[in-house]
Amino acid sequence: MARRNQHQIVIAGGGFAGLAAARALPAKFQVTLIDRTTHFEFLPNIHELVSGVKTPAALRVPRRELLRRFGHRFIQDRIARIDRQTASVITAAGHHYPYDALIVALGAEDPPARVPGLGRHAIGFKSIDECAAIGARLRELAAGEGSFNVVIVGGGFEGVEALGEVLRVHRRNPRLAVTLLDSAERLMPGYPPAVDARLRALCKPYPVTFANGVRVKRLKAGAVELADGRRLAADLTVWTGGLSPPALLTETRLTPDAQTWLPTAATLQHPRDSAMFVVGDVAGSVPNLAKQAYHALDMGAFAATNIQRFLANRPPRPFHPADKPSLVSFGDLSGFLLWEKRAVEGVAFTLMKEAVFQMTLGGLDRPVRPQALWRLGGRLGGTIGRVAWPTITSLDTIRRLPGVRFL
Ligand SMILES: Cc1cc2nc3c(=O)[nH]c(=O)nc-3n(C[C@H](O)[C@H](O)[C@H](O)COP(=O)(O)OP(=O)(O)OC[C@H]3O[C@@H](n4cnc5c(N)ncnc54)[C@H](O)[C@@H]3O)c2cc1C
Repeated sequence: MARRNQHQIVIAGGGFAGLAAARALPAKFQVTLIDRTTHFEFLPNIHELVSGVKTPAALRVPRRELLRRFGHRFIQDRIARIDRQTASVITAAGHHYPYDALIVALGAEDPPARVPGLGRHAIGFKSIDECAAIGARLRELAAGEGSFNVVIVGGGFEGVEALGEVLRVHRRNPRLAVTLLDSAERLMPGYPPAVDARLRALCKPYPVTFANGVRVKRLKAGAVELADGRRLAADLTVWTGGLSPPALLTETRLTPDAQTWLPTAATLQHPRDSAMFVVGDVAGSVPNLAKQAYHALDMGAFAATNIQRFLANRPPRPFHPADKPSLVSFGDLSGFLLWEKRAVEGVAFTLMKEAVFQMTLGGLDRPVRPQALWRLGGRLGGTIGRVAWPTITSLDTIRRLPGVRFL
């Protein structure tokens, strides 16, 4: 049968979930993946741009090349609307993409800025450009004169990983002062209190102040104002934390309000639209999962299988999320393996996170073509030169490497 007579599948969003779905769908389907940007970004390691351990090139892969290898089509455009009545996706450029089945993989967005001055006086922590800008500003401050103050807002995964990277490079600079703020009473809430205690202990020798249970009232040039009236000097403010459903969902009336994630049944279908599959961070309610890349990858691949069953008039199967641990690196000081309510700490987990980066990105961007082989070489070179070499040449790190602490 000619290719144009095959079922049309549109994938909205080409992050972890959308690409995993595209990779798992056979080329016999007419698959179109639409994303507003040209390059996939490997978000779990963007914090390392702050220290320069990673370069932007090591974390990006061109989507067009990936889709060509999967045997599918890539369209770079912003999705303006999903029209369920006509079963089509409409882009900002005015093109209509009809579908027999749709995979919604639009990820999450920054929450709307409720703090005055946020857009102008802080740098976010959700993209390669933002983390590279933080690294550049830090280098500029370190090269200047006089003391410099870095304020990190948010003490979850991102804030902790950002702090670790600042300390990796600048902890011995006597001109540096870092403050980490959070409205929660402790760091990494949701995990054992011992994680908070260990992070504070690791920071003790360095110029780090923690302020928990505080709220930011306003950001100004060179300052962060807190709701309790305090004013902190800030030459660089890094804003982490918080995720919101994509605004497109409410704009196209797929969800009733800006706080609601896209409803998802156990089969990863929309409960009221069986042709719509919902995967990755954008998925809401059932199953209620941590918004993590490893779940997004699994959901994308599973939705690809279920779509084939749906298009063949066979009943889709329920998705059972795998119970996987999270890895959090804290610069070159330590790392954490977090699993439900359990936590283990050790330098070795930073190396494990590096191995996950190499394997996951190598699995998506298989080195079967010269460009992909070149990128793999660049990534491996970075790991050897900027992670493995500093580890094996530091007596202190070697001494700490076998140590594992159950928290
Ligand atoms: C700083 C940071 C650190 C993280 N660390 C980890 C970690 O250590 N481990 C882990 O497992 N997870 C981590 N995560 C979470 C992980 O990155 C996400 O869970 C994962 O990216 C979700 O994949 P996704 O495909 O659902 O969404 P995304 O990867 O966000 O992809 C969504 C895609 O949709 C596109 N898109 C959105 N709207 C439109 C539109 N209107 N038109 C066209 N395209 C659109 C976007 O451009 C994007 O490419 C981290 C996230 C961040 C931000």
